[in-house]
Amino acid sequence: MENVQTATPNGKIVLLIHGGAGNFKESDLGPDQQKIYEKYLREAVEEGYKILEVGGSALDAVEASVKFMEDAPLFNAGKGSVLNKEGHVEMDASIMSGKDLKAGAVAVVRHVKNPISAAKIVMEKSSHVMLAGNGADEFAQSMGLEMKDESYFITSSSLEQWKKANELIPEPKDINKHGTVGAVALDQNGNLAAATSTGGILNKLPGRVGDSPIIGAGTYADNNTCAVSATGHGEYFIRLTVARSIAALVEYKMIPLEQAVNEVVHNRLSKLGGNGGVIAVDKNGNFSIDHNTTGMFRAWKTEKKCEVRFFKE
Ligand code: ASP
Repeated sequence: MENVQTATPNGKIVLLIHGGAGNFKESDLGPDQQKIYEKYLREAVEEGYKILEVGGSALDAVEASVKFMEDAPLFNAGKGSVLNKEGHVEMDASIMSGKDLKAGAVAVVRHVKNPISAAKIVMEKSSHVMLAGNGADEFAQSMGLEMKDESYFITSSSLEQWKKANELIPEPKDINKHGTVGAVALDQNGNLAAATSTGGILNKLPGRVGDSPIIGAGTYADNNTCAVSATGHGEYFIRLTVARSIAALVEYKMIPLEQAVNEVVHNRLSKLGGNGGVIAVDKNGNFSIDHNTTGMFRAWKTEKKCEVRFFKE
């Protein structure tokens, strides 16, 4: 658990990312794998942070970090997404701007290369918040986004996981079932944004939609409170409206972000039986990362430093 309280100079910039939470331990993730994850997470943070550094928006920064992780086969989002029961990729993503509470989401997309950019374009260029299925892919294509055949998204590792899950290979041993990606950021102008993207849950029923594209469940941002991106067993996050609950606690109870995150993750989520975690940053640049699983891929960068972590602390 990381909680950072800061004074609040204006112009402060902060970016946090996650690459999924799960019950994995140090024995599951050897030093070589740790090096690979660390490299990708650092690069993903940099993608967004360099936008913030030159005065860019939190919205563009979270999109850039998430896009980078969607392109990396290591994570369960974009290329590398897990497969559903029928062996197909169905991806979900959402993005929210804290400045104006604008939001965009796509669910069950199968061809747009970067679902997070599709979510952003739904927000910016349509009069809707969420598009699903073929309509979402078609809208993304009509807006000029890059489209891919399904074979682009399926990696040897996601195929192997799927075969294991379907008992074609005995003894499933998989640390990467949860590899959803997300980012939250505060920019120089005090604007917050959050973004989340996922392939969902391995072996899910076709058409299943998790929390990641649902505003208030997997993603939320409001300049008056905080920006949150979640990862974990989506059905629980939907039922608890996890991201919005954290923002509501900060808003109505006027408690520090860290306490709000702790209450939702360790009290409400754990009591309901859900697993996962969140990254969150508030309007003053205080941030909190917490999870009730043994592991969560995460990294953050402030003016002072860039840090990467995998395991519970
Ligand atoms: N929350 C995602 C979902 O339920 C999965 C994850 O974060 O690992 O679709």
